[in-house]
Amino acid sequence: MEKLKKQASVRGPEQMFTGEVYFDGIFAGQEPSRMRANSVHFAPGARTAWHCHTEGQTLYVTEGVGLVQARGGEILQMHPGDVVYTPPGEWHWHGADPEHFMTHIAMWESPRPGNDAPESEWGAHITEEEYRVRSQPS
Ligand code: MN
Repeated sequence: MEKLKKQASVRGPEQMFTGEVYFDGIFAGQEPSRMRANSVHFAPGARTAWHCHTEGQTLYVTEGVGLVQARGGEILQMHPGDVVYTPPGEWHWHGADPEHFMTHIAMWESPRPGNDAPESEWGAHITEEEYRVRSQPS
């Protein structure tokens, strides 16, 4: 057993996020483990850009009110205890609601041996127009 050293929180880069986003690394396995987990903290209005994950991703909401959308789908609200699975290669974004902080644990795997794809692919930012589509709180 090993109690791992606490790592410094890392600000999410502007190329991939809108607003204030911070990561706390939880785990990044050494091969043969491909397990990855971060706790991700979004300030109100903060969100990822469009992206997809080569091996998919599972989100577990721990605090606040979040939003998530798959490309072509509706914006869904997320609350503590909600689990959202995104399959490999599905484009999506996630973030905080405009009026609340949101924290989720993001869990994914690095690509299988022999797959040279990056863990995630990143695209355009979510515009204010795209982000504000949801008119009524649910
Ligand atoms: Mn994602």
